[in-house]
Amino acid sequence: MNPHDTTAGQGPSLRDWRRPATDEWRRGKAAALALTFDVDAESAVLGRMPAAVNDLSAMSHQAYGPQVGLPRILRLLESTATPATFFVPGDSARRWPRAVETILAAGHEIALHSDQHRSLLTMTQTEQEQDLGANLEALAALGVRPVGYRAPNWQLTAVTLDLLVDAGVAYDSSLMDDDRPYVIDHPRGQIAELPVHWSLDDWEQYAFLPEPDIGQVIDAPSKVLEIWQGELDAMRSTGGLCVITCHPFLSGRPSRLRVIADLIQAAQDYGDVELVRCDTVAARLLDT
Ligand SMILES: [Zn+2]
Repeated sequence: MNPHDTTAGQGPSLRDWRRPATDEWRRGKAAALALTFDVDAESAVLGRMPAAVNDLSAMSHQAYGPQVGLPRILRLLESTATPATFFVPGDSARRWPRAVETILAAGHEIALHSDQHRSLLTMTQTEQEQDLGANLEALAALGVRPVGYRAPNWQLTAVTLDLLVDAGVAYDSSLMDDDRPYVIDHPRGQIAELPVHWSLDDWEQYAFLPEPDIGQVIDAPSKVLEIWQGELDAMRSTGGLCVITCHPFLSGRPSRLRVIADLIQAAQDYGDVELVRCDTVAARLLDT
């Protein structure tokens, strides 16, 4: 059975498992903003092209994230009293344990993001089990007990969903069939979904490397702010959860960090937008 099968009358599907959305999770606010950071570092490149480990320039491009971008992001979040969620692959946790510890020490949420940042689409079930297990183990070694998951490249599979529910993971943040969070009543148990979208990801706006091809566009930060703030503002009339996905190696650069700062400022100025961690939203959903 493929839960992503959208063919009517062919048995249970992901859309059949969705519990009708309620507004309880918003706690009276018009919308919510969840700032999320995928700490991909080297894994974003090595997951695509293992030989790139010999390319010191490409590796340094990725190391910029935990080395320079992340500390800046943490300072910004602290100065604005903003809670955030960091999705950390096992590979990043092993290469950059101090970075994970600084995120934890700052009081933010740390969640799962696969072990090697390899596509789940080509993995067997056993490989997926090992990948999730290794990610859990790498974070556990640093004292983290994550409750959330995000698939690498947002390529969640039916097998992944089964494994997450079996592992007791409270939420996923990889799907795109809504702009409000919802609960999946999976046959094996409940799991919340906090939907994402390509337009709200810094990757599509900023990622560039000659090889491997992680992206070929470098957009103006002003354009990114226009897209993100426009969506957040509009969600105040639709009751949305604006999940912004940033990568420290991309959004940690000076002019791009200002986009995040300006977005936080805008959210605070609206007065009816709550800045939330993903685990907070998931807990409210599974509670109601
Ligand atoms: Zn990632």
